[in-house]
Amino acid sequence: MNAGDRVRVERADQTHEGVLLPSTTADHLVVKLDGGYNVGIDRAAADVEVLEADAHEIEEGGDGNASTVEFDEDLPTVSLISTGGTIASTVDYRTGAVTAQFDAEDVLRAVPDLAGLANYRGRVVANILSENMTPDVWRELAEAVHEEIEAGADGVVVMHGTDTMQYSAAALSFMLDTPVPVVFTGSQRSADRPSSDNVMNAVCAVEAAKSDAAEVMVCMHASESDDVCALHRGTRVRKNHTSRRDAFETVGAKPLGEVDYETGERPEVSFRRDYAERGAADLAIAPELNPEVELLKFAPGMDTSFLDAVEGKDGLVIEGTGLGHVHTDLIPRIEDLVDDGTTVVMTSQCIEGRVCDRVYDTGRDLLDAGVVEAGDTLPGTAMVKLMWALEHTSDPETTMAEPVAGELTERSVPWE
Ligand code: GLU
Repeated sequence: MNAGDRVRVERADQTHEGVLLPSTTADHLVVKLDGGYNVGIDRAAADVEVLEADAHEIEEGGDGNASTVEFDEDLPTVSLISTGGTIASTVDYRTGAVTAQFDAEDVLRAVPDLAGLANYRGRVVANILSENMTPDVWRELAEAVHEEIEAGADGVVVMHGTDTMQYSAAALSFMLDTPVPVVFTGSQRSADRPSSDNVMNAVCAVEAAKSDAAEVMVCMHASESDDVCALHRGTRVRKNHTSRRDAFETVGAKPLGEVDYETGERPEVSFRRDYAERGAADLAIAPELNPEVELLKFAPGMDTSFLDAVEGKDGLVIEGTGLGHVHTDLIPRIEDLVDDGTTVVMTSQCIEGRVCDRVYDTGRDLLDAGVVEAGDTLPGTAMVKLMWALEHTSDPETTMAEPVAGELTERSVPWE
């Protein structure tokens, strides 16, 4: 029994028929019913009969070229990788096991507006809400992107839930050197709502994936209208609204560029800042992460014993107040952590600006305790970077204070 199989499930006095979806737990089956709803079913309490095996499984060993969509040699090839979230609910999983390829036809069935923009390769890495992302999935995703580029993709689009897209984009920014664009996109409103942003975001992301910017980027609505998508650098972006379609913003700078959806027949991509050019970097991957890192937000009144939970961890990123402070009573405990080998990094819970612990006493005491300042690195990005730096650099403390993937500016400059 595989994801993509058509199944009949009997449990108690109910019978369900539909297509088996990839499930994140071994204990549950997830079935897409013919009406479109997904049901989760306790595996132990259900009898399952496979009515029809996944067509792609049957074709295994064939020529692997089942798609009827013709390859257009004048168009670039874009690989679409799905990880889940609202945008992926448009993707038809009839053919998708977790690591399976889904082909050009499946992509175009999901978002017909993508027709004629590129040749497509499709791939499912996960089918999860992005709050369920883990460093292991980031790694699988980076490896899948790497494989797609190696196989000849001229650009990659990653479809992802919006809640933690910024963490995944940051993770891939550190893990990959890419000669082609890698563009994350998602959707704040599902496809069944008139205000859905999924088609425009997907189309703009494909255009960005064909562009000259070989960066890991996030492509999402730039305004509440269906006019422009913004292109954000993967390490500097933040989801700043729970539900608006233009929830994503670049922090501390202008976005890298934009995709104008309203101009002419094809959306136009333009850039406002310097970017790494297509082909400039050789493809490389450094996907290992040390997951023994926590991100902690300080608040007045925080119990000192809260830090006990971090004992033995390899890294701690603190979101301090203002320039990078915590209550004086926490500082000896932080010093103990540093002495025991935990790399402790300071960021700020202010959205804009950079930490500077030389100005006030508590800051200077934190520096004396061995805390490292992460400049203007965003807290979530700093956490991902520390996971990466602990694996890939001999001196993670120094790395955290230096830019690696556009996450840290040497000095803050005013911007329009
Ligand atoms: N919270 C879910 C996620 O981030 C669904 C919403 C969305 O796709 O943005 O995956």
